[in-house]
Amino acid sequence: MKNLVRTLDSVDFLKMDRRTFMKAVGVMGASVFLGTYKTQMVSALEFAETKLIWLHGSECTGCSESLLNAGNPDVGQALSKLNVNLAYHETLLAQQGIFNDGKLVNTSELNSEILLEELIKEGKYILVVEGGIPNGPQGSGRYLVIGNKTFKETLGEAAKNATAIVAVGACACWGGITSADSDVAKDTDYRGVAFAKTDASKGMLKELGIDKPVINIPGCPAHPDWILLTLGAVILGKIKVPEDLPAVLDEYGRPKVFFPPDHTVHDNCPRRGYYDRGELDEEVGGPGCLWKLGCKAPYAHADCGIRRWNGSVSMCTQAGGPCIACVEPDFPDGSRPLYVEAEDKGVLLGANIDTVSKVAVGAAAVAAGVHAVRRMGKGE
Ligand code: SF4
Ligand code: SF4
Repeated sequence: MKNLVRTLDSVDFLKMDRRTFMKAVGVMGASVFLGTYKTQMVSALEFAETKLIWLHGSECTGCSESLLNAGNPDVGQALSKLNVNLAYHETLLAQQGIFNDGKLVNTSELNSEILLEELIKEGKYILVVEGGIPNGPQGSGRYLVIGNKTFKETLGEAAKNATAIVAVGACACWGGITSADSDVAKDTDYRGVAFAKTDASKGMLKELGIDKPVINIPGCPAHPDWILLTLGAVILGKIKVPEDLPAVLDEYGRPKVFFPPDHTVHDNCPRRGYYDRGELDEEVGGPGCLWKLGCKAPYAHADCGIRRWNGSVSMCTQAGGPCIACVEPDFPDGSRPLYVEAEDKGVLLGANIDTVSKVAVGAAAVAAGVHAVRRMGKGE
């Protein structure tokens, strides 16, 4: 990676074609990327401030937390390098929504609902959505009302005027935790912005009659690099919306560079040697492979094993936690029960078989002898 960074350092970033750019963000963390291109970005962006509206639906705010935990660059540095005006972010705003006799009062300096209305009217912003969107009860969306308006309605208004829409985290992408199977799931009827679980015909924008492409950055939470680098690529025009999206996104709207269709977390797991030797832990706390403890990494299409988390220090399986495939559209139901060996379920986690790499499925099925399986998968 160091070599690639050195090579790219001598390249004019702005002249980079999309393919090279995507390769670069695939191997770099946000810190290296933004550091390497700082000067070029600053000069390039002097004339191009981008507004960001960040909406929160039903969620734990974990994706914003994850972004705020980005250490180098931190969010402030990243936003200033990318020349972003974070115009609206419900959990970071100082403004309050104030009503008097059912009417909004004050000005946009003090009232977040007025501010949001003004920003939407002005247009020319990237919309980031975090959290699931309830359609219930009975299609009203009234299970989430903010500022006297259903979140469903607010999302629709903001989506109509957005230049690009990015869903961040499993809940915004496909419903995630908010849409997990339960006694009330039918009534609450949680949706993602463009998908409901794996179903693209039931995304909330479709429900609202809005036909706009959405970039999905899943995860529970999403990795700060995935968020910052995707926003960076859109802001800098390296990914043009909508024309470039079919080439850079997979069938679930995820950037292939971070969520490669032919690569799973299992491929680069630090415990992979144990798996290949069949040394499978049966109790937590050991050094071996976590497959028998319910690891779902062979079904998780993400670069966690390469990129790692918390400043590239560690990641789930490295820290001893079985991967729960939090980036997949059927998460969490497809990964449940979380800490039980997947074979016990007798099904492939409910995942779309076409999206699961042949290598990973073969490897998961035999739980050993991966090299032979790899040859089989390639038909050698
Ligand atoms: S099954 Fe999980 S713990 Fe085992 S090697 Fe694969 S990713 Fe690592
Ligand atoms: S290792 Fe698995 S559970 Fe952990 S963040 Fe990556 S995809 Fe999600």
